Amino acid sequence: MAILKVMKLGSDVLRKRAVEIESHDLKKGRFKHFFDDLRETMAEYSGTGLAAPQVGTGVRAFLYMVDPGSRAKGAVEVPQTILVNPTFEPLDPEEVEDWEACLSVPFLAARVPRPRKVRVRALGENGKPLEFVADDFHARVVLHESDHLDGVVYLDRVRDRSSIRYTIDF
Ligand SMILES: [Zn+2]
Repeated sequence: MAILKVMKLGSDVLRKRAVEIESHDLKKGRFKHFFDDLRETMAEYSGTGLAAPQVGTGVRAFLYMVDPGSRAKGAVEVPQTILVNPTFEPLDPEEVEDWEACLSVPFLAARVPRPRKVRVRALGENGKPLEFVADDFHARVVLHESDHLDGVVYLDRVRDRSSIRYTIDF
């Protein structure tokens, strides 16, 4: 396994639409090594999510987790999960704002509006179809990571720009 370099805002790969992964490539384990590297890299940087383009690989896959012990107080715990070729269907017209940050946009955070509840369809890392409903912080994480597959970063979605702030003291 290897810790991969995390691309920062300004890298072309973060602004390109990533390409679909074929399910037979997943079933044959062709991405297993890459997914292991994603897991190791996310753990190294204490991330909540990490999308393939963030480590310079333009494919539609990301890793995420929801740890209720950290900032997602009261959230449902989601173990480390890889989603491939995800699509979303909003289930609640209400959008909610909350804080987001990103390993590719270091030292910044801002409030971002997101749908509160979505139905998620994707392939799992083994190529099997997955379908589930995500709400609140869980929905926010999967939507943030999925944006990376379309060349979008959370700053693009900030409505209240006065909320953009540094998370460290220089
Ligand atoms: Zn991000």
